[in-house]
Amino acid sequence: MAEGGVDSLLATQRAYDEELLEVLVEEIGGESAYRVVKILLSSDKEITDEEIANKLDMQLNAVRKVLYRLYEERLASYRRTRDTNTGWFIYYWKIRADKVREAVIRRKQEVYLRLSERLKFEKENMLFHCGNHNCQRLTFDEAMETEFKCPNCGEELKYQDNSESVKVLEKKLRELREELKELEKRCEEFPLEKSVLRS
Ligand SMILES: [Zn+2]
Repeated sequence: MAEGGVDSLLATQRAYDEELLEVLVEEIGGESAYRVVKILLSSDKEITDEEIANKLDMQLNAVRKVLYRLYEERLASYRRTRDTNTGWFIYYWKIRADKVREAVIRRKQEVYLRLSERLKFEKENMLFHCGNHNCQRLTFDEAMETEFKCPNCGEELKYQDNSESVKVLEKKLRELREELKELEKRCEEFPLEKSVLRS
């Protein structure tokens, strides 16, 4: 994707991208961050913090706070010039669409890895449970140690068939895999060696 490749971000997968963006900016600052990012994405040239504040009818300070967080996360960059009349600095902001997409991919990869580990655990272990919602499941070794009594409530531990969890996890991982493949393909600047998808 070209520098500031906004076009492809706004193309056919727009709704999908927005959904991902929503998740991403939630961590940066919720609703206000989402609105600022949308303005930045829809503007094909640099835009000042004051212009953003005016367009969104938001406090300038609130806009600046979001912009600074984006800058910290390297999702936005700025250029600074001095106003010859007032002597004040003017900041021209630009979203780094390539970095935004990369960040979205990284978040998805984290989820993918976490779920993979969970699936491995579910597949490799026989699990035992007392049936009480507040209590945890135990592995075979752990259950042996407590003589098949729940360490929390003292009830008898019973083998728990977890094939349903395995099925659900496998389905979710398949979906994530497809999403990641698609995202990585559309993000030309995403380095292949960073992919969690082998094969
Ligand atoms: Zn229990």
